[in-house]
Amino acid sequence: MTTLRTSLIASVSAVAVSVTLAAPALAAVPAPPKPPIPMPSTVDVPMSYQGQSRCDPTTKPGAAALAELLSRHYSRPSYGTVRACLSDVSEHYDGRAVDWMLDVNDPADKAIADAVTKWLTERDSRGNYGSWARRFGLMYVIWNRKVWKSYRDIGTWQPYTGSHPHTDHIHFSFAWDGACKRTSWWTGRAVTSINTNGCSTPQVTVATEFTPVKDIVLRLGSTGSAVRLAQSNLPGVAVDGEYGPLTQSAVRSFQSRYGLTVTGNVGRAVWNKMEQLQYPLIKFRKTVILKKGDTGNAVKKAQWALRMPKTGVFDDRMFQRVRQVENKYGLKPNGVIGPLTWAALDEELRARMRMTEASAELERVVEGALADQRS
Ligand SMILES: [Zn+2]
Repeated sequence: MTTLRTSLIASVSAVAVSVTLAAPALAAVPAPPKPPIPMPSTVDVPMSYQGQSRCDPTTKPGAAALAELLSRHYSRPSYGTVRACLSDVSEHYDGRAVDWMLDVNDPADKAIADAVTKWLTERDSRGNYGSWARRFGLMYVIWNRKVWKSYRDIGTWQPYTGSHPHTDHIHFSFAWDGACKRTSWWTGRAVTSINTNGCSTPQVTVATEFTPVKDIVLRLGSTGSAVRLAQSNLPGVAVDGEYGPLTQSAVRSFQSRYGLTVTGNVGRAVWNKMEQLQYPLIKFRKTVILKKGDTGNAVKKAQWALRMPKTGVFDDRMFQRVRQVENKYGLKPNGVIGPLTWAALDEELRARMRMTEASAELERVVEGALADQRS
């Protein structure tokens, strides 16, 4: 008995010693980065929750800038930002999230991650919670089974119960002000009222890409940019700017499918139909103005674009939604649907169509990969 216990203790301490010897001395974690410009004494307001709602997987400037800053400063260059849109909600789908790859099982990585998450979220000398996180416009941060939210629990770290423990990366989600570099770290001015607009206000005009080509007639042998535009609106046709027999045949099918005179040439009727498919509300732009109290089919169409119940009654709730969309597109937010607001509603529909297409495309890719695995 005694012998056994002694030998166990001996082997345990031998293991402990060898671990101590094998572990390299941890390099000191660098001091946090310094702001590029003088900071105002005011800290940006804590950001509200602004969940992803658009499919726009391009990295936003504030997200890219923090990822660059941290990965260089701490010499940990590996991070990811955007992903192809799926049906769940993730700021990786609208360019407002960063995954900075640090491994909780690597002591040096863990020391950096712990130091950075502490620095971002601790109180400053004036008692502001999460002051650095707020200066970057962070909405929430997840690391090692814990989550910090700017908008809940007064900025304290709480257990994270999502399916992924986040032990191999820190996740950063930015509010729009942070994602678009409107916060004090970058501007020197604290955000005092939250702005949920995107980074560049999308522009809408009454004209479309079809407007300048409507007088052009295309036929076998035509070449150029108008041919490209037509081809990009014909299913299964290569966009090469050469109006060959395949394009002609696709035009015939298009005309027949939509009840147009079958000529094999692209003229005004074909252009109009292509435009209508791309901009479902186009016919209202020059003919219908809607305001609160109006009723009817055009109201239903607008409600469809606004993702509201199609009651056909322009009520106060709809008025508020119309003003939101007008704001988003930099239009005068008067709650009246005139030509430009119709154009903005079309953009809303088109963004959703692109999102649906992107998701369908991804599903096809995933299906293909699964089929490959099976075969
Ligand atoms: Zn992430």
